[in-house]
Amino acid sequence: MTNTEKQHCSLKDVPLACPRIGVLAIQGNYASHAQALTEAGATPVEVRKPAQLSGLDGLVLPGGESTTMLKFLEKHHFFEALQVFCGARPVFGTCAGAILLAREVLNPAQRSLGLLDAIVERNAYGRQIDSAIVTAETALAGGPLEMVFIRAPRIVATGAGVEVLARRDGFPTLIRQGRILAATFHPELSRDRRVHRLFVEIVAAGWEELASQNRYTPSSPARVGN
Ligand code: GLN
Repeated sequence: MTNTEKQHCSLKDVPLACPRIGVLAIQGNYASHAQALTEAGATPVEVRKPAQLSGLDGLVLPGGESTTMLKFLEKHHFFEALQVFCGARPVFGTCAGAILLAREVLNPAQRSLGLLDAIVERNAYGRQIDSAIVTAETALAGGPLEMVFIRAPRIVATGAGVEVLARRDGFPTLIRQGRILAATFHPELSRDRRVHRLFVEIVAAGWEELASQNRYTPSSPARVGN
């Protein structure tokens, strides 16, 4: 095994060392997420149709434009299948992806998957300062975290089951609700792989839990719509 392979598949103490993680690839910044997932020890799979969710161990909803993604999902009868998958498996939404996951979306209100107990305000940082790189303290081990914000949303409320892992100006920017991870920034655009590594660990742990309940075998067909 080469050093690179070792680095890619070296997750310790987890049963699923190289999970297959989908990246919703209909719009936005999915290629950088695929690269980041590879670097974090997973095998990325581009997802454009509901059937491609089959057998995946987790899914990334990338940044981009949430309204455009939503229109595509509705037009291609993908919204419901995505809701079923994301309601059962580990999912990581960044920026527009976090907007899609939220319980409620403001500015303006729009439909969402409603799985993340948070209220998210779109384009909350205004026109002048809507893109910025901020380094801030994080609950993740390893020191302060660089966060790249691009026309970012703001998480204005979170439910009791939501853990805040990083903030900007007091507002949560990286949150976790069990097997759901969401960031209002773009971790795939920084060199630091701690956020993607955390998601890969959540995926591996989720598999362990489901496997112990005999409900899920990795790479078996997912019970989703078409
Ligand atoms: N402003 C975008 C939206 O509302 C999100 C921006 C992003 O994903 N970088 O969907």
